[in-house]
Amino acid sequence: MPIATVNPATGRTVETFEPFDDDAVELRLSRAAAAFAHWRTTGFEERSALLRRAADLLDERQEETARTMTLEMGKPIGAARAEAAKCAKAMRWYADRAPGLLADEHPDAADVADSGGSEVYVRYRPLGVVLAVMPWNFPYWQVIRFAAPALMAGNVGLLKHASNVPRTALALERLFVDAGYPEGCFQTLLVNAAGVERVVRDERVAAVTLTGSEGAGRSVAAAAGDEVKKSVLELGGSDPFLVLPSADLPAAVERAVVARVQNNGQSCIAAKRFIVHAEVYDAFTAAFAERMGALVVGDPMDEATDVGPLASRQGCSDIEELVRDAVGLGARVECGGDRPEGLDGGWYYRPTVLTGVTPAMRIHREEAFGPVATVYRVESLQEAIDLANDSPFGLSSNVWTTDPAEREQCVRDLQAGGVFFNGMTASHPAFPFGGVKRSGYGRELSGHGIREFCNITTVWVG
Ligand code: NDP
Repeated sequence: MPIATVNPATGRTVETFEPFDDDAVELRLSRAAAAFAHWRTTGFEERSALLRRAADLLDERQEETARTMTLEMGKPIGAARAEAAKCAKAMRWYADRAPGLLADEHPDAADVADSGGSEVYVRYRPLGVVLAVMPWNFPYWQVIRFAAPALMAGNVGLLKHASNVPRTALALERLFVDAGYPEGCFQTLLVNAAGVERVVRDERVAAVTLTGSEGAGRSVAAAAGDEVKKSVLELGGSDPFLVLPSADLPAAVERAVVARVQNNGQSCIAAKRFIVHAEVYDAFTAAFAERMGALVVGDPMDEATDVGPLASRQGCSDIEELVRDAVGLGARVECGGDRPEGLDGGWYYRPTVLTGVTPAMRIHREEAFGPVATVYRVESLQEAIDLANDSPFGLSSNVWTTDPAEREQCVRDLQAGGVFFNGMTASHPAFPFGGVKRSGYGRELSGHGIREFCNITTVWVG
């Protein structure tokens, strides 16, 4: 895949970049290793001050940051601004909280005495150089939610960003440099996917985190496993959205639309499978299809646009193919189902609702990374949970109910890294984020996220 900025709203190439050659990669690896030797010895006060400075700079640069994101991957401009603001918030959150999250831990005095020691504590020490392989869909947020905790813990970062967001990748490096971080603390590697394995295997790299597709995750984790290096994977999702009879139906419909089409439908935590109880199925489906069909599809730089283009030609044809497969096998199109006319060669797809989906259709098990929803009818909560779990993925889940017993059953039985009631899944710096099954392993954000890339060290004094 060439490293290039290509405007998804027009399909036209704006700028291409030469991938780094071996010498350029080597230079960054040695800089990273040298930076870690010093950065690991710094205190929280210094790390927090730099991260706050980077957050302030990001706020100052919000408009150009947002426009670059929208140009490179097509998200509506308002959402791009919100993403930049959310990153600054997460940076400040970690600047404030990291010292507490990584404070020494002291076991029970009885256990210390039982061990024969006079003093025992646990120290969270940094691991080293961490490689982040990141996707284009939230091109700032995915990187910052790795970088903020990693840098606060005393690690240094190397970013291999997706090949279609090179301007964003370079701007991220510049952000940390301009904030005053020492050379080598956070660097971008302009390499394509084929250049990743060599970096994972380099002895100066301690660990790797990847957000993206299952295939990419599998190959990066295989190399990391072969080198016995820590990895965290945040892969795809096909999150269920259960609507039960006690749901506030208008609110559920309104959130369902946002949950499905956020980021032009290209979010791992987007709700993708709508599993609706028979008592409310007809009312929900009619209102949902009406609202999805009324969304404004168009230029993502236009403030009035609800849904912009898909990020790539491939992504658009993948979605077309999934819908074609389902319709060919008998699915009904309640709205959308094709590409809109006359939008200047961009990779647009109309918000689509499919019903009558069966396990024979690819969309039943595969992730629909675009604005396409499937709606299923079920007769009971148990059937809804069984259907929700009938997926290779297990990232998050959404349930609409006011019944405490139903809520408890969902928390107990849904196979996912999150269960969100009467709302939609969203990430927040304070809460762990990640999945089970083919959605990956490990957690980002919160105390769990910052400790993933730490050497959890037992200190025992006799
Ligand atoms: P990819 O998984 O291909 O890309 C994500 C990152 O991984 C990019 O930096 C990419 O680099 C890199 N990468 C890809 N293959 C390898 C490899 N074999 N070894 C090392 N690094 C690799 O995502 P796509 O953009 O192709 O999207 C395909 C599908 O992935 C989507 O339809 C969706 O299902 C899923 N996805 C999930 C995301 C999430 O948030 N969980 C985000 C993006 C995609 P390069 O760009 O150079 O290929």
